[in-house]
Amino acid sequence: MVYHITFIPGDGIGPEVAGAARRCVDAVSDKYGFGVKWDESIAGEPALDETGSVLPDKTLNSIRKNKIALKGPITTPVGEGFRSVNVELRQKLDLFANVRPAKLLPGVKSRYEDIDLVVIRENTEDLYSGIEFAEGGKQVAELIRFIKRRTGRSVRRDSAISIKPISIFGSERIARFAFDYAKANGRKKVTAVHKANIMKYSDGLFLHTAEKVAAKYKSIAFENMIVDNMCMQLVIKPDLYDVLLCPNLYGDIISDLCSGLVGGLGMAPSANIGNNYAVFEPIHGSAPKHAGKNEANPTATIMSSAMMLRHIGEHKAAQALEDAVIKVIKEGKKVTYDLKAKNHVGTKEMADEIIKKIE
Ligand code: NAD
Repeated sequence: MVYHITFIPGDGIGPEVAGAARRCVDAVSDKYGFGVKWDESIAGEPALDETGSVLPDKTLNSIRKNKIALKGPITTPVGEGFRSVNVELRQKLDLFANVRPAKLLPGVKSRYEDIDLVVIRENTEDLYSGIEFAEGGKQVAELIRFIKRRTGRSVRRDSAISIKPISIFGSERIARFAFDYAKANGRKKVTAVHKANIMKYSDGLFLHTAEKVAAKYKSIAFENMIVDNMCMQLVIKPDLYDVLLCPNLYGDIISDLCSGLVGGLGMAPSANIGNNYAVFEPIHGSAPKHAGKNEANPTATIMSSAMMLRHIGEHKAAQALEDAVIKVIKEGKKVTYDLKAKNHVGTKEMADEIIKKIE
């Protein structure tokens, strides 16, 4: 069996961590008797320079053809410039579920003893819709007048406005995904995270839809929590939680918080899943200050590639790769700077050690 997989190295630390994960997949596939043919594709700044588009059709079509991609992080300019390629990719391929596990591995320094959380983040709606009106423009002035007419409420004239759409369709399918995930993975409880006390319509709709879906899954406990309280609860007693069902923005923030409970961003993998395609990537970004220095932790991307192997049905290979990562981290000899203050190794050397330990 040969799998065709799109490979997007990304930028910043992307090529280093994604390259490490690719080598791990090659090694484990050799051992477990299947092949992987990588279709290397570009996106982000390098693609803009080469093709004039940050997300070239060629890259999208490669994923459409292969159905599966492994991706490194891609930089998004802050407060200006092009919109996030990552968000565009998720929207264009309708990768509506972002699965972000945060599990504390033996040997990782943490303030906690036993953390095993999964954030299920809605990936296509909310404030990530990209519908925004810049301050000072004609459109925002028109919108402000419309709001005044329809609601009687005044918005300051020098405002910028971002739109937060949340639909029954989007909320229902992500809630169902969260409960199905919980059932399939032996999880006991789903907590819906929201701010429905303030955003009564958008977050309220997310919550009410989740409640309706929850009623159909009697074997899984359900509760809801306001997002600010959720942050505090996760820091104080994270062991009380299991699957966290979140709209897009809170899911992004909460999953970074969860990564901090299990050793940091270098430890947090993810999968973007839709009905037709799946893209696997670390939750962290391109970490520009570490780029090109062979110092970033490859674990998050390697664990994302293990999620990918599970997704395509190569369960034994996925387990072997995860076990190898766990062994290397537990031993604590050949790990990166974020896992060990002194005598650490580089990205490449940690990946070499993981490859050596694959059984
Ligand atoms: P970041 O996740 O890139 O890094 C924040 C910090 O986390 C780093 O400075 C570093 O200390 C640590 N870190 C991250 N990854 C690490 C690793 N593998 N090993 C060790 N330490 C690691 O967040 P940022 O600096 O806020 O964002 C940088 C860029 O990445 C931005 O342009 C942002 O838009 C983009 N981004 C992309 C994605 C994606 O491609 N899916 C996700 C998040 C952010």
